[in-house]
Amino acid sequence: MLSKQQKEIMKELNGADKNNWTDWKWQLRHCIKNVEQVEQLLGVTLPEKVRNKVPLITERFPMSITPYYLSLIDCSDIENDPIFKQSFPVVDELEVMRTDMLDPLHEDIDSPVEGVVHRYPDRVLFLVSNMCAMYCRHCTRKRHVGDLDSIPNRTQILKGINYIKNTPEIRDVLLSGGDPLMMSDEYLDWILTELRAIDHIEILRIGTRAPVVLPQRITEGLLKVLKKHHPIWINTHFNHPRELTNSSKLALRKLADAGIPLGNQTVLLAGVNDCPRIMKALFHKLVANRVRPYYLYQCDLSEGLNHFRTPVGKGIEILESLIGHTSGLCVPTYVIDAPGGGGKIPIMPNYLISWSTNKVVLRNYEGVITTYKEPDSYEPNFCDRDCANCDLQLSLDDANEVKATGIEKLLADNDQAISLVPADNERYGRRD
Ligand SMILES: *Cc1c(COP(=O)(O)O)cnc(C)c1O
Repeated sequence: MLSKQQKEIMKELNGADKNNWTDWKWQLRHCIKNVEQVEQLLGVTLPEKVRNKVPLITERFPMSITPYYLSLIDCSDIENDPIFKQSFPVVDELEVMRTDMLDPLHEDIDSPVEGVVHRYPDRVLFLVSNMCAMYCRHCTRKRHVGDLDSIPNRTQILKGINYIKNTPEIRDVLLSGGDPLMMSDEYLDWILTELRAIDHIEILRIGTRAPVVLPQRITEGLLKVLKKHHPIWINTHFNHPRELTNSSKLALRKLADAGIPLGNQTVLLAGVNDCPRIMKALFHKLVANRVRPYYLYQCDLSEGLNHFRTPVGKGIEILESLIGHTSGLCVPTYVIDAPGGGGKIPIMPNYLISWSTNKVVLRNYEGVITTYKEPDSYEPNFCDRDCANCDLQLSLDDANEVKATGIEKLLADNDQAISLVPADNERYGRRD
């Protein structure tokens, strides 16, 4: 069922019909790229302060909105509309703060070959597409948006695949971009086939906003391709309950029915979803549609995002309103992606209040303070990593030996390290 607004937009787009509307390639060909078109298709005149300077902004950070996503905008309060705010440029984007960075997550630096970000020991981010249907105004890779609206060719992709092939520690590949689902079914099939042929790859993941901004992309042909390469996991990116339309729900159902576990990454955005009640409604709707809220992101320090940022306290307040109050399934992990490339750092309200040698003091979501008595008789095993001769049973075929790093290393019995010291520590520098 098409809405009245969708029918109006179709009429304006050369009298498109329902078949056009449900064709993802038609949607892509008709992406909206300027303010005049937005006004024409929505039948509105935007206030001067809203339309002001849009060409100046889009010169730096281009605009692209699918007709479908545009059709979700509620024109009765357009300036506060969460769909409008995520897709329409505002002059605040040009305000660069002293602390803003072009590449806050150091993705370009942590990239051993073009397109691969190898940050964590056992998994990589593989940027296989420079294209997106909709340019999210809050994109963390805003610096690249519209750079080159293309899909890397086979030679470029093969460089990444070869790196993955030659790096046996990698067991998990996360396809992202851009949006990997902007590729044709055939091209995606080729990449997934190449990756599946690598022995040490256990799981493949795809990060995509298609179910939100272009649900028409979830075609029978695509599902057939995805099903060939299981286990495949998909993470999508819903930020507001209004985005869960009938079309989106249908796309999610098809993906889930294809046996793909679905997760969601939400970005905490001022003026869009910085409200515990909106978040709870969003996470409830996602779970009801078989999508597990995975991460809630603190907004990154990328240039052009300052107006979307909230204090960290807002995220903690939101978690406080979820944990215990609703199903655990509806509670994502709140993370800050560390500037400088430290990876995602989880943030939690404090539940552990105090501690003695045999008791911990905790508080619950209601504010009840309680104690947990620790065992008197726990005999720790000294772990020398000789797993073959340990009473605890582990089949060594299932568990690659991985060297302990970071805090894990400080806790390991078999490691002599007693501290972690920054490489440029002056006191250590004086020692020899
Ligand atoms: C987020 C991310 C991953 C995946 O992290 P998970 O916590 O495993 O979901 C991998 N590589 C990079 C560079 C990332 O930013």
